[in-house]
Amino acid sequence: MAIYEETLKKQREYFRTGATLPIEFRKRMLIKLKDELRKREDDIIRALGEDLGKSDFEAYATEIGIVYGEISYLVKHISSFMRKKKVPSPITIFKATSYTIREPLGNVLIMSPWNYPFQLTMVPLAGAIAGGNTAIVKPSRYSKATSKLMKEIIESLFPPEYIAAFEGGHETNTALLEGKYDLIFFTGSPNVGKIVAAKAAETLTPTVLELGGKSPVFVDESADIKLTARRLAWGKFLNAGQTCVAPDYVLCSRSTAKPLIEALKEEAGKMFSSTPLGSDDLPKIINERHFERIKGLIASSAIAFGGDSDKDTRKIAPTILYPVRETDPVMQEEIFGPVLPILEYDTLSDAIDFVRNREKPLALYVFSRNRENIERIHSLCSFGGGCINDTVVHLSNPRLPFGGVGNSGMGSYHGKRSLETFTHQKSIVKEALWIDLPVRYAPFGRKIKLLRMLMR
Ligand code: NAD
Repeated sequence: MAIYEETLKKQREYFRTGATLPIEFRKRMLIKLKDELRKREDDIIRALGEDLGKSDFEAYATEIGIVYGEISYLVKHISSFMRKKKVPSPITIFKATSYTIREPLGNVLIMSPWNYPFQLTMVPLAGAIAGGNTAIVKPSRYSKATSKLMKEIIESLFPPEYIAAFEGGHETNTALLEGKYDLIFFTGSPNVGKIVAAKAAETLTPTVLELGGKSPVFVDESADIKLTARRLAWGKFLNAGQTCVAPDYVLCSRSTAKPLIEALKEEAGKMFSSTPLGSDDLPKIINERHFERIKGLIASSAIAFGGDSDKDTRKIAPTILYPVRETDPVMQEEIFGPVLPILEYDTLSDAIDFVRNREKPLALYVFSRNRENIERIHSLCSFGGGCINDTVVHLSNPRLPFGGVGNSGMGSYHGKRSLETFTHQKSIVKEALWIDLPVRYAPFGRKIKLLRMLMR
């Protein structure tokens, strides 16, 4: 029996013992995980540096700190969330009591990408633990150092029949997907998401798909250009643009484009200096394939500033493309690099149509002081989540569910929503024994009259 099959079998048996059920057990496991991560914090920072050249600040702010916050939130809220919840009962089932009970799903598979390799593995894992599940974790093979470290940490803390981690590429992924799980939690590209969903459908396994796509930014004439440029540059160049919710492209009114580009240039210069390729704060591109792909996108549009790169360090300087046409290669795929195309619109309706004519994005950002414009964009465009006058930060609030819609994903998680995602809500009606209304039983005679009064 292959190791994956064997592990899943053992996890199934372990789950059936009921060991993962007690809330105290789940809390203990979460705390154990957090304590160990704290101890290994320097190693985690080092691994993220090795894989993606993240600075220690960025590693903490966008990966480690988010995992700590999530675990703390779950530990604090798990007891009240898992409690039975009473709901009112309709008169037709008088004198019953109705309530819901949360139960773990069982055996969960978590597959994660390389761009935030630590956070995007550990946050779902924390949700799976809090939900009372067992888990098999499969991080990306491209973020080698972080994946190896996470496997080591998981194996030092948990027995494989509870939580197991596997490294590997295509073969491992394919073999893991042969198993029958109670949930597959997948984070990655829409293309692989389709493969995962198709495989899961064979066994009616539910999936959460956290995918990506091209997330637009609207900048209208009322926007505070300086602040817009600063927050836009921050969200775009974070992790060298390799962020699922990174602003992918900007739609701005004609009068705004030039001042915005000037301001972006200034802000990027302040953040990464006039020689950004030498900046320790600018992460590198994950591998040569992506490095070449992004360079190709830059080469086929007009460059307003930036465009330099260094093959040896795999760094690409913050780059603004302008003017950009809808047909340019950079507008045909998710950029996933430090490159921001600027497109102009004549009317806000044109810009809204532009977004609505494409796949539903994971994030959408609006920079504006005009409430009417913001409301119009929000009511007409469908997207996973977003910010007004900022970028990316919506995913840092554990009280907000995080996920996509349509091509950018299905299902969501973070905080309370993770507890919902990794559990099933059972509905129970407890009937009274002292009364048994005869209306539902045959012979019905003229009981329909009474039924009509009760059910309307
Ligand atoms: P990817 O889809 O190539 O890989 C994701 C995971 O799937 C990895 O663990 C990989 O090993 C595995 N995988 C690859 N091919 C597979 C196959 N044929 N069958 C089964 N599993 C397979 O994605 P990536 O390149 O690692 O990450 C980038 C993408 O992920 C972008 O589209 C980005 O927007 C998206 N993303 C989304 C989120 C989110 O939270 N919504 C977060 C980060 C990244």
